[in-house]
Amino acid sequence: MTHNDTHPQAAEHPTVTGHTRIVGVIGWPIEHTVSPPMHNAAFAALGMDWCYVPFPVRSERLAEAIAGVRGLGLCGINVTVPHKQAMLALMDDLTPAARTIGAVNTVLIEGDRLVGHNTDAGGFLRALREAGFAPEGCRAVMLGAGGAARAVGYALVDVGAHLTILNRSPERAVALATDLHAANENAIIDAGALTQSALRRASETTQLIVNATPLGMWPHVDASPWPDDVEYPAGAFTFDLIYNPRETLLMRRVREAGGEAIDGLGMLVHQGAEAFALWTGQEPPTDVLYRACTAILGGK
Ligand code: NAP
Repeated sequence: MTHNDTHPQAAEHPTVTGHTRIVGVIGWPIEHTVSPPMHNAAFAALGMDWCYVPFPVRSERLAEAIAGVRGLGLCGINVTVPHKQAMLALMDDLTPAARTIGAVNTVLIEGDRLVGHNTDAGGFLRALREAGFAPEGCRAVMLGAGGAARAVGYALVDVGAHLTILNRSPERAVALATDLHAANENAIIDAGALTQSALRRASETTQLIVNATPLGMWPHVDASPWPDDVEYPAGAFTFDLIYNPRETLLMRRVREAGGEAIDGLGMLVHQGAEAFALWTGQEPPTDVLYRACTAILGGK
């Protein structure tokens, strides 16, 4: 079979047979992932004989699990918390994005080689553009310097944004700025502590605010990375990477102040779409991916 072969009854009767191509996601815990319904809905919509399976993998079993990807003949995998960083050492090759970001969220199997990609960066940019914001050369402030922030920072620097990274632990913000600068010497990056005065200063000129901290995520929905006594910059666009709930406290406050805000669902969908295209060579049906996610997470 080639990548483009379809099972005649896959859409109506999505059963797994000896012909079915298997992809999946490894993580721990994995129970709450929305990636299997998202990808399986896309396979069904396109009548493809593929199946996406969640694999619960503990950290101490990661190397065995990756050997199993090759051994079992899987066609690709996604990687989620807590394994994205540990994957770097287990790949035969890395894309420049995955190397600079320091995390792999998608593995492509090229012959016998496992190639580590990071589709979070591209997913973030696509979601941002889809929402009508053109990030090229913008002034952006990013809250957080963890795994997701590394992908977002890479993406923003790649499109020439002037980036300010503010993080609870300032040394992590500085380390990220150093890594991004090492990969792109034209990058314009400031980094420091996430304090009220730093937020006030950054918000004087910023056009884009990105929340890459988990503050506001379910079940702690009353939390926000933006203190109440710091004004929201008028006219700035806010991108909260959280997608559960679909509207965070930060997003609500921005909207109340007359600003525009989006959640992380678009990034989730587009990182999945990019992985789908890498594995299958097919154009992903993003409307189907969105519908599968909103059926689980709510919203539009
Ligand atoms: P992570 O690697 O654990 O990083 C968390 C970041 O948030 C760190 O910078 C951390 O600061 C900061 N932080 C945590 N608790 C904080 C607090 N109480 N006050 C201030 N800062 C705090 O997590 P991650 O994987 O980057 O995920 C971050 C968020 O992005 C999560 O909500 C996740 O669901 C979301 N995400 C969304 C997508 C998507 O597709 N939409 C993809 C990936 C992640 P320190 O460095 O000081 O610890």
